[in-house]
Amino acid sequence: MEYEELMKKITNEKKSGKGDRFEPPEIDVIQQGQKTIINADKLMKYINRPMTHLSKFLMHELTAPGQIDENSRIIIGGKFSRRVVQEKINQYIKEYVICKQCGSPDTKMEKVDKNDIIRCLGCGAEYPVGRVR
Ligand SMILES: [Zn+2]
Repeated sequence: MEYEELMKKITNEKKSGKGDRFEPPEIDVIQQGQKTIINADKLMKYINRPMTHLSKFLMHELTAPGQIDENSRIIIGGKFSRRVVQEKINQYIKEYVICKQCGSPDTKMEKVDKNDIIRCLGCGAEYPVGRVR
């Protein structure tokens, strides 16, 4: 690539604000007895999804019971390592946050009829996602 072209590309990326990489905040995973406590408060604010949606997803994926406590932490019945939980959360982000068209994390989830729709604020794509049971 020509130097000028390269500079133009860098400038454009800076302008659009997409130069910042998508770096979701870390989650805290604590094992307490037979329970796993997940503090994903910062993450949920960052990705702008309801905590209940993630908790349902985790329960389904881990096939474990779960609930949200009064401190907005997700409590999962059973012992799960931080690595396992993080992997599931990465999967969640890939499926329910990152736009499948353009890869932008700048998306919204909306309910249309009974379906969950992902709407991308970057490229305007709209597509349904599987419902979390
Ligand atoms: Zn998009």
